[in-house]
Amino acid sequence: MGNNHENNTEQQFDFSLLCEYFLSVDRQGPGSGASTLRALGFIDGLTAQSRIADLGCGTGASALLLARHTGAHVTALDLFPAFLEKLRQRAVETGLADRIDTVEGSMDNPPFGDETFDVLWSEGAIYNIGFVHGLELWRRYLKRGGYVAVTEISWLTDERPAEIAQFWNEAYPEIDTMGHKLEQLQQCGYRPVAAFVLPDDCWTTHYYEPQREARRMFFGKHCGNATAEQLMRDQRHEAQLYERYKTQIGRAHV
Ligand code: SAH
Repeated sequence: MGNNHENNTEQQFDFSLLCEYFLSVDRQGPGSGASTLRALGFIDGLTAQSRIADLGCGTGASALLLARHTGAHVTALDLFPAFLEKLRQRAVETGLADRIDTVEGSMDNPPFGDETFDVLWSEGAIYNIGFVHGLELWRRYLKRGGYVAVTEISWLTDERPAEIAQFWNEAYPEIDTMGHKLEQLQQCGYRPVAAFVLPDDCWTTHYYEPQREARRMFFGKHCGNATAEQLMRDQRHEAQLYERYKTQIGRAHV
């Protein structure tokens, strides 16, 4: 999901509809528990004393897993209070509430002290402030030797059809190949440890498919609301483009 901080009423309204829609699904971006754990497997030495920040955590798909599988303390940050509320509920239900804190704030100015975290985690969210800007900005919050793990929309091929190129170049001009993303990571002062392409089910089973039912409910509730109907059409269009061009577009976990 995207963000755009135009401060007018229509945009604000868009946001509340977008939040309502995404509150009804477990993930607000492509990913899966298996891929989160695969990425976590590249990180050594976490203990109950370790601290992890999940930036753009949404309703907590990765924050909950990270807390459960590491024993570390997770600070989960997002712009939207309704997402954080759902994350807190899920943390209580799964007995993880004492190891997850939620912070309402922006990832471009998080209220964190320097060298606080062993790991910075961010799935499907760093694009909101830009990959390079985010990596540069966040580095100060990492302890020495700490890790950053992010997913980033990436081209899987060097050439691509105009329709998909145009859609994503407009939606996210920083989109690039995975190789270039890794170069950028290095230029920002990090050493690459691992990178992999998220499997197809991260997009389908865990992201676009649950949204079909969400759209059905949403259409029922907001029938006749032009903004809501446009929103649904946009979400469906993005899903259809993915289906058509999935060999060209993917999401890298670096
Ligand atoms: N990590 C979650 C959510 C991904 S969607 C998952 O994988 O399911 C992107 C998230 O980033 C949304 O929850 C959105 O509210 C949040 N977001 C967008 N811009 C943000 C910003 N500037 N600061 C903090 N969070 C932001």
